[in-house]
Amino acid sequence: MTAFADLGLSESTLQALQDVGYEKPSPIQEQAIPPLLNGADIIGQAQTGSGKTAAFGLPILEHVDPDEKEVQALVLTPTRELCIQVTQALRTYGARKGVAVVAVFGGAPIRTQQSQLHDGGQVVVGTVGRVLDLMGRGSLVLSSCRFVVLDEADEMLDLGFLEDVETILKNTPNGRQTALFSATMPPPIRALADRYLYHPEVIKVKSQFLTVDTVEQFSLQTKANEKADTLVDVLAAEKPDQAIVFTRTKIRADQLFRKLRDRGMNVKALHGDMSQGQRDGVMLSFKGGRVPILVATDVAARGLDISTVTHVVNFDVPVSPDVYVHRIGRTGRVGRSGRAITFVEPRQTRELAAIEKHVGQAITPWEAGAHTKPAPIEERPRRHSKPQLSRNGDEPYAKLIAAGGRADGVEVSDLVHAVTHEAGVDGEAVRDVKVLERFSVLSVPASEADRIVDAVQSLRLAPARLSAA
Ligand code: AMP
Repeated sequence: MTAFADLGLSESTLQALQDVGYEKPSPIQEQAIPPLLNGADIIGQAQTGSGKTAAFGLPILEHVDPDEKEVQALVLTPTRELCIQVTQALRTYGARKGVAVVAVFGGAPIRTQQSQLHDGGQVVVGTVGRVLDLMGRGSLVLSSCRFVVLDEADEMLDLGFLEDVETILKNTPNGRQTALFSATMPPPIRALADRYLYHPEVIKVKSQFLTVDTVEQFSLQTKANEKADTLVDVLAAEKPDQAIVFTRTKIRADQLFRKLRDRGMNVKALHGDMSQGQRDGVMLSFKGGRVPILVATDVAARGLDISTVTHVVNFDVPVSPDVYVHRIGRTGRVGRSGRAITFVEPRQTRELAAIEKHVGQAITPWEAGAHTKPAPIEERPRRHSKPQLSRNGDEPYAKLIAAGGRADGVEVSDLVHAVTHEAGVDGEAVRDVKVLERFSVLSVPASEADRIVDAVQSLRLAPARLSAA
């Protein structure tokens, strides 16, 4: 079995991987990291969930020099959701080396992005349109950019960005190293690869983190006009920490969202008829754990990696078994189990059968009260037996640093929520929470620090130093 240490990564990168709790490389990482470290171009046929971000991100971070102010690497993404996600991942991986990662995407003030670029970012992650815009204004100079990644190239094609991608590539040095990632390889993507990649190594993998193995799957027969009521019952019985409810269309998402909201539920919608700003806001509040229920369409939620999701409800049967896997693969991530409940109308039993065939297992009928909450694979801190801590003022406190700050949309409540919710520590125990631009700091009882760090690993908290009170 290959370990990260066998792939040729430096000590600080290995340390960063330990910080985020990755134990061994995923197949795409195992296959892509060595050639990328050696300077080869690659084509990676991999989807979200395969670990592709680290597969290209770690070699990039090895290559860049944090002391040089120029842009040395560019990652192009089709959507701003993916842009934000990749940026957050690269910042985490590069935190120990001190690499500055700047995100540039449309819909946000260009001035702020210009000044971040001016301050010097070694890695720029951007959506195609905004990257071109900033290049045109002279704010983004790519003459020292030695590394280019096209992430989800087939999506860029679908969105009509391929010509712009070419323009950008033409403005980077010829001797650059290029990595192209795409879930599918339609002819225009192949042609692009032929023109802009140099003897690329082709790597194909399945999405290992997008798995249904860790997801308990249920079906629920229901009539079309009873679905909303059924959903309310299901949510009441399941008590999800966080659930995504999928509908087939934007209109249905919006209607359902309104119905749930009118019943007083803390719910948000995510669909393509919303403005980008609204979508970002929803995404951040859901990711931050402030909203437990998200009603979404497939397109809007595509590519989102939301590791805290305990439940997926297919309010409408997915259009294909592939979409089913994509939807429910969002729960049960990295060491957790999840539950997926699919609503099936009487005329949809054939579709359910197709899904069962695809995932190779029968999907059990759901029954209220017959199941408990998702059982943790790893021990999950008990929320109801909170540790009794004496707050007498003498207790030693430990400072924790969280790799995420204002720039990532982190708010004080996110951090408090993470600690109270994930580690079962009561809110009063959390002190001195400060959200800075890139990082946040908070103090917790020293006796609880290790446990908290373990419990919130996925939120990328790392202990900084212990400070006696
Ligand atoms: P990606 O395909 O890059 O969007 O990654 C999907 C998810 O897998 C993200 O939550 C990553 O943090 C996680 N991940 C990536 N690589 C590993 C690894 N080697 N071990 C565990 N989790 C990983």
